[in-house]
Amino acid sequence: MSVAGEASFRESVDLMFKRATALMDLSPGLEEKIRVCNSTYTVRFGVRLRGKIETFTGYRSVHSEHMEPVKGGIRYSLGVNQEEVEALAALMTYKCALVDTPFGGSKGGLCIDPRQWDEHELEQITRRFAYELIKRDLIHPAQNVPAPDMGTGEREMAWIADQYARMNTTDINAKACVTGKPPHAGGIQGRVEATGRGVQYALREFFRYREDREAARLTGDLDGKRVIVQGLGNVGYHAAKFLSEEDGVRVIAVIERDGAIVDEKGINIEELRQHMNRTGGLAGFPKERHLPEGAAVLEMECDILIPAALEGVINLGNAALIKAPLIIEAANGPVTFGADEILRKKGTLIIPDMYANAGGVTVSYFEWVKNLSHIRFGRMQRRAEEARSRLLVEELERLSSDQGLGWTMSQDFKQKFLQGSDELALVRSGLDDTMRTAYQAMREVWHGRTDVNDLRVAAYIVAIDRVAKTYRSKGL
Ligand code: NAD
Repeated sequence: MSVAGEASFRESVDLMFKRATALMDLSPGLEEKIRVCNSTYTVRFGVRLRGKIETFTGYRSVHSEHMEPVKGGIRYSLGVNQEEVEALAALMTYKCALVDTPFGGSKGGLCIDPRQWDEHELEQITRRFAYELIKRDLIHPAQNVPAPDMGTGEREMAWIADQYARMNTTDINAKACVTGKPPHAGGIQGRVEATGRGVQYALREFFRYREDREAARLTGDLDGKRVIVQGLGNVGYHAAKFLSEEDGVRVIAVIERDGAIVDEKGINIEELRQHMNRTGGLAGFPKERHLPEGAAVLEMECDILIPAALEGVINLGNAALIKAPLIIEAANGPVTFGADEILRKKGTLIIPDMYANAGGVTVSYFEWVKNLSHIRFGRMQRRAEEARSRLLVEELERLSSDQGLGWTMSQDFKQKFLQGSDELALVRSGLDDTMRTAYQAMREVWHGRTDVNDLRVAAYIVAIDRVAKTYRSKGL
């Protein structure tokens, strides 16, 4: 992926950080303290599989402990290395600060291709990795709380939670040691879809502002916008599904490991995902066009480009060829530092990763709070809310009939109005509020300062300023 002269992912994050701190009034000492990664633990462990011992290498990096626990996903991929994990941990610090979740930044990774192992083998590997991290408090409800990332999901999080509970039998808060668990194992409604849902809410918020749309040379709302998505995994699938089913966007191309599907008329995301689940790839998807060379499709004309796979895909080699006027970084680090400069000069607008994919950590925060409070959201209020709404409806109906006004409420309105908020509704409301509030904080810096011309620098400034304030209040 890397092109000659290209900064690494870790260097890219540092360079972006420095572009922001150059515009801030931080002491050099504090700036350095915020930038550096506090620690990275490397573990090599063996698991007996298929008759022999296989050795795996894993990492857990803690970027900043200005707030604890620290938070960040665990990635399973052959591309995992110390640099990558540290870059992702740094992004977690800034992301958590930007969306105002009370966590420091962390990230973990295991160098493994999960598709090479069956479920039972993956469970053995995951439990052993978790064991190594748990015994060093690198998984702990008060200190370090992982979540899913590329190559991991609910299943792995459930194994980790169970492993922690087995090793800490009297910890009443054991479930809060990891988020992204399935609902039956202490998870929360809406977590699986959260990052993709956050991308949808981020785009909706962006399109609410005329000046912002114009900065991306776009008009109108999301309806009818032509979208290209790279990566139809957890984040890409949910973002593409919600945007096409609920906001009227047309997904004209999906790029995956084995090429791309291109269809100007719009791709049915649910059908494509079902096909991928059955066959493991895009090839052979009926009706639409399959191109074996996926990366070139990033350069196709569209209104919105959503890279949702991995880092460094838009780099010095292809940045000048990208035609999308708006890029929303659903993946972490999809645009390198060098590419970012080229795109900015071209006038491409980028909604940065630390904001765009913060929906996952936001709902993880809700899950962690739920686990610590030992009660599902809405359990106390939902029926009381319904009873109060019913009283109001009945009173209005009585008044209408007493006064002979003949008012009637539509069944649809009545049903919606009478429904109390369940956990999913509350999670979505909290996520929407978080995405809107964070966007407004970024936007204020973007439009409010003459020396800030892009959302990424604005996001870094908001985040770094908040981290700096926390350090100062600790006397640093
Ligand atoms: P995932 O493993 O569910 O999906 C990744 C998808 O990308 C897969 O379908 C894979 O086949 C595809 N892919 C891999 N390499 C590709 C390539 N070279 N070209 C095209 N497609 C490729 O992972 P995910 O959880 O959806 O994560 C995707 C990105 O979003 C990562 O950068 C991750 O750090 C970020 N992210 C994820 C979450 C989360 O909650 N899962 C939260 C925040 C950020």
